[in-house]
Amino acid sequence: MPIKLEQLHLNDASRSIEGLEETKAVPTDKQICDDVVLLWRQEPATEDLGLVELLEKVVHRNPSWDLSESKLKQTLIDHNLSFSDESKLFTYADQVVSAQCPFIDPKSLEKLELLETQPRGWSAFARKDLRRDEIIFYEHEALTPILPLDKTSLAEIGRSCSLCGTLLTQSSQFTMKNLLDCQFCSAVWCSKHCKRLEAATHSFLKHPTSKSKQVSATGWLDFEKMCKENAMHAAYSIGIIYARIILDKHDSDRIREQFESLAQVSQTLRTKSADSTNIGGTFDRAMGAVSSEDRSLWSNVFESFCSAFPNVEEEEGLNLETFLTYIGKFNINQLDGQIYTIYSHLNHKCEPNVRYEVDGKKGLKVFARKDIKKGEELFTTYVNPLHGVTLRRRELLVNWGFLCNCSRCHKELAARNKAGSTFGPKLDLPGIKVTRRKSSLKASKPDLSELLKNGQEFDLEVPDDLEFGRRRKSVRFDDRVMAAVEE
Ligand SMILES: [Zn+2]
Ligand SMILES: [Zn+2]
Ligand SMILES: [Zn+2]
Repeated sequence: MPIKLEQLHLNDASRSIEGLEETKAVPTDKQICDDVVLLWRQEPATEDLGLVELLEKVVHRNPSWDLSESKLKQTLIDHNLSFSDESKLFTYADQVVSAQCPFIDPKSLEKLELLETQPRGWSAFARKDLRRDEIIFYEHEALTPILPLDKTSLAEIGRSCSLCGTLLTQSSQFTMKNLLDCQFCSAVWCSKHCKRLEAATHSFLKHPTSKSKQVSATGWLDFEKMCKENAMHAAYSIGIIYARIILDKHDSDRIREQFESLAQVSQTLRTKSADSTNIGGTFDRAMGAVSSEDRSLWSNVFESFCSAFPNVEEEEGLNLETFLTYIGKFNINQLDGQIYTIYSHLNHKCEPNVRYEVDGKKGLKVFARKDIKKGEELFTTYVNPLHGVTLRRRELLVNWGFLCNCSRCHKELAARNKAGSTFGPKLDLPGIKVTRRKSSLKASKPDLSELLKNGQEFDLEVPDDLEFGRRRKSVRFDDRVMAAVEE
């Protein structure tokens, strides 16, 4: 049977009228930047393309766009995706403050030392020589474990663990036998461990006694709902941490003291360094980004937080500014949506000397990626090391407030300068010798084989694309498919 190939249109894509060109539309700045950043994520080498080649790529990806070379150039400049003068960029790392973290189990510090350094605050150093792949420290649990926001709906109806979010496959007999369910609602835990960790917070927030003035069950439900609707993971997490702080108050006050000691900066400052429109998806709402028109959203969220914890303003003296500082604090310290107190002390390098394994249930393990000498500082990476230099530095600038000048960034920027790339900062980097390579594309592509040689491969998924959807995820559907049609 002969087969004919036919092009079909899917979704609601508008078909072009016979003989007429499809109407092209001028894309918004946000669309342009989002697509360029997405392209850089998918193909790091494209960061080095000249303007003409970049335009060609972008237009090829978006055939319906009416985009000129000058518009593309200006948009990238306007949104810090192409900059020539670094001194004009807003940074806030110098405004991040931290204090000595109390209550750390000395056993966890056998191989590392936490010391105050200037100007970077508290940092971690090797206490002894460390061999590659050796475990450096293990944090069995987060400061206070937080259920991922997108798992709260399933947890409410008892389909996933109320603490770690694991989908439940256990039988109801198993649950009953081990007393893993809540007496008052549908919540279920996957293990005794999870129940032990969460039972008190759960009862406190969901089933407060009528006498409790500290929390309002309906207020908490509304707050949770608001965070969920707006995908505000950071705000929701502050709610959970705050509940634990209140519960812990008459015990040791450990949670409050540890949380307060961690590096902090107000979300207001962080928002200032991002584009107000969250362009490029570097900094999304779950991480606390709110566009300027949305400023009132923060007041509403804080108001809702105050209805959940009625005493918060009067007794605790918490106001919107403190709340925003907590949000900023959570964002710069969180790893995989949780706060690990020792890990929070690690500074960043694009070529780190430690690597980590994180598991909601088992906690966080940190290993040496290479041999480390006693006294050397321990560095992790805050961004996906497989990203190109421009994207990495932009993510660090927006999310952590500094321009990375680590040796890998220097090397890659110098190579790019030599190759005469159109984009990125033109820096004079004295003392760095770079051998000129054949093509500009090759010249500043991260040398991954070199990078990965001395350590385990980087996990492609972490930390850029976490399961909570705290980073923008893009799915692209082609609106045309080829279909084989029988004749
Ligand atoms: Zn669990
Ligand atoms: Zn319950
Ligand atoms: Zn760097």
